[in-house]
Amino acid sequence: KELSKWRPEVIELWEKCSVPETINKETFQKSFIRHVNTTLARSIYNVDNFSAYQATAHAVRDRLIQRWNETQQIHTERDQKRVYYLSLEFLLGRSLDNALLNLGLKDSFGEGVKELGFKMEDILDQEVDAALGNGGLGRLAACYMDSLATLCYPAWGYGVRYTYGIFQQKIVDGYQDEFPDYWLNFDNPWELPRVDIVVDVQFGGHVNKITEGDKVRHEWIGGETVQAVAYDVPIPGYGVKNCINIRLWNSKPRRKFDFGKFNAGEYDQAVQEQMKAEFLTAVLYPNDNHMVGKELRLKQQYFWVAASLHDIVRRFKKSQRDWNEFPDQVAIQLNDTHPALAIVELQRILVDEERLDWDAAWDIVTHTFAFTNHTVLPEAMEKWPVPMISQLLPRHIQIIFDLNLFFLQRVEKFAPGDRDFLARLSIIEESTPQYVRMAHLAIVGSHRVNGVAKLHSKLIKETIFKDFVKYYGPDKFENKTNGITPRRWLHQANPKLSELITETLGHKDWLKDLTLLKKLEESVHDKEFRRRWMAVKHSNKVRLAEYIRDVVDVDVNPNALFDVQVKRIHEYKRQFMNILGVIHRYNTIKSMSPEQMRDVVPRVVIFGGKAAPGYYIAKLVIKLINSVASVVNKDSTIQDLLKVIFIPDYNVSVAEIIIPASDISQHISTAGTEASGTSNMKFVLNCGLILGTVDGANIEIHEEIGDDNIFMFGHLAEQVDDLRYAHRYRDVPMDPHLDAVIKDIESGSFGEARIFAPLINTLTFGKDYYLISDDFGSYLDAQKLVDEAYKKEKDWVKKSILCTANMGQFSSDRAIKEYAESIWGIIPVKV
Ligand code: PLP
Repeated sequence: KELSKWRPEVIELWEKCSVPETINKETFQKSFIRHVNTTLARSIYNVDNFSAYQATAHAVRDRLIQRWNETQQIHTERDQKRVYYLSLEFLLGRSLDNALLNLGLKDSFGEGVKELGFKMEDILDQEVDAALGNGGLGRLAACYMDSLATLCYPAWGYGVRYTYGIFQQKIVDGYQDEFPDYWLNFDNPWELPRVDIVVDVQFGGHVNKITEGDKVRHEWIGGETVQAVAYDVPIPGYGVKNCINIRLWNSKPRRKFDFGKFNAGEYDQAVQEQMKAEFLTAVLYPNDNHMVGKELRLKQQYFWVAASLHDIVRRFKKSQRDWNEFPDQVAIQLNDTHPALAIVELQRILVDEERLDWDAAWDIVTHTFAFTNHTVLPEAMEKWPVPMISQLLPRHIQIIFDLNLFFLQRVEKFAPGDRDFLARLSIIEESTPQYVRMAHLAIVGSHRVNGVAKLHSKLIKETIFKDFVKYYGPDKFENKTNGITPRRWLHQANPKLSELITETLGHKDWLKDLTLLKKLEESVHDKEFRRRWMAVKHSNKVRLAEYIRDVVDVDVNPNALFDVQVKRIHEYKRQFMNILGVIHRYNTIKSMSPEQMRDVVPRVVIFGGKAAPGYYIAKLVIKLINSVASVVNKDSTIQDLLKVIFIPDYNVSVAEIIIPASDISQHISTAGTEASGTSNMKFVLNCGLILGTVDGANIEIHEEIGDDNIFMFGHLAEQVDDLRYAHRYRDVPMDPHLDAVIKDIESGSFGEARIFAPLINTLTFGKDYYLISDDFGSYLDAQKLVDEAYKKEKDWVKKSILCTANMGQFSSDRAIKEYAESIWGIIPVKV
């Protein structure tokens, strides 16, 4: 139909010219040089590593665009149900290596650049991370995009194109300092600006109530309008032609600037509107698992939700279907409560703009959305003051109150007269001021709610959403254990291990079906295989040791046990317990005779992670780690048996170097606080053992890899309430080892004691909310078991192999298939 406007000879010419170029080394080299000459306006005389990166990236981008076009075309033609993944964060990291591997071009392009005088490693190293996320939640979204593309699902991601991603961390005098992340300083070849795709987003104004016969409609007018411009990020699948899209929205003013003011000489005021509008998507809020109720953040959320829904609705309307088919064509997944306003926005579009009646609209809305909960931590629960929403979104607050009223009327029928039950379920928290509880809104507006690991999904049903389970019944609540993409987290990050696995299994199919790794178990008794397995780990440790020398100027011994804890710095993740354990280890070694020392396993304890800029206690933990490091690393009396390293600016690219090099990694959150964790999966997939608490996905990893290959310790989630109660109301004696460590800090062994007093106070006056003193004894015992196990080299390698072999369940492909089949109802459409 679309083609009918063209004459046949025009169509023929288009088809002739659209035949894709074959891709091989020679065509790549031509494309590389063409981009150096034309895109970059450079030549052989001034092409450096950075321009070589840009030229390579543009050559790859050309291929991606072809695939992206084909994928969109086929998905449009087939017009099957699509899933839209709404995530305020996409922590993508670098794209070039990933695209080369997924497209199967790494070898030919590597050869191609070599002949042109460059090294592929140097070129790859030029890229800056796309760090549009805080941690696990954002990286999960990125892994899910890889799986959606690889499994050929018709899917789109929607997010925000922040001008500044997560801040860069530098360590100055042991403290964290934050610097802006200028990631768009240079041209970004991985995005396609869509200057033609522009959506007006309205804020403020007022609502007119218009009566037409016996009907009432609402008209939202006035206020300010900001424009959303689309930037598309192509995501190629592995080993398939499918290439899906993440559409990121950037804000810009509707008018360029105020000519009246400009002509009157008020230049600064003339551009004020422009600056204000651009500010909207300027920066990612740097809080992980913590709600900060800033108005700008709420504006960001609505801006992104409104633009995305407008786009989704426009696409749906192209097919001219009836509105009640909307849920058969569209599934929208809410990654946490950040996009929960989408529920209200869709209801508004359907009722106010499309003139559907309320109940019909609500039926469509609730069959479209599904909601992923990521945490039970009270401080992370999003709620927004009613006055703030009223001012920014006057029509939306009316809709929220209306749908809450109708919801509570239904609840009242279910539990007549139980006012407490109603108050607990209400979307509105009746405080002064009132608040909108975003999780309640998300549950009421969705047909499915899921947690992200078995324990977490059980806990949300028993605690924060208990009353909703009573009302809706248990079937609305599901578990979808998180997963990770083996393409980035093994094949790309650990190429030597990937090669060894492929050679051993005799195929690469494991990259698309991770359960095939199970067959590696058969090689556990093969001595030569074990030797090679160890050699890979060793070379990854050498690579990390070199990185550590580069960034913190400390030499570490690659033969030592590498003990890693890298993740956001948070009290619940208990990096504090780790460093207290390190002090205990240090003091124990110091008290040893030379003979005793001979029996000690040398350790390098590696930390990394950012603290939210306003999170004082987390920032003190970083200071303590660095203070301990500066004492321990200089102490020659301990004979290099212990080194402590804080790697600055932990991000995806740094994770790709650290994770393959770990012997043991720590996932030691207070039981019941870490919803899933995903780095735990990455470490084990990369044949590192874990030391963990009975929390999040550690439990399922334990189930898969067995007792012998994991070190678990600590109290259980069901004991936490009683332990906290005891701390609050009784005088719980402190673990003697912990007491000694605290006294050591207080005596000034690691710098001025007063600096660390607020941190120590969290254990005593703070009543040890995260139960460090309760778990410290079993933590030290587990650490001893780690030391003993590491001494038995042969057994350790076997454990390490069995770790990787049993990680099949934790592929994001498995997770995405589960979502697709049980929540979204979508089927693959292969290009
Ligand atoms: N931050 C970065 C940069 C990551 O790559 C990851 C996971 O790989 C995380 C945070 C999440 O780590 P965790 O699951 O340990 O919280």
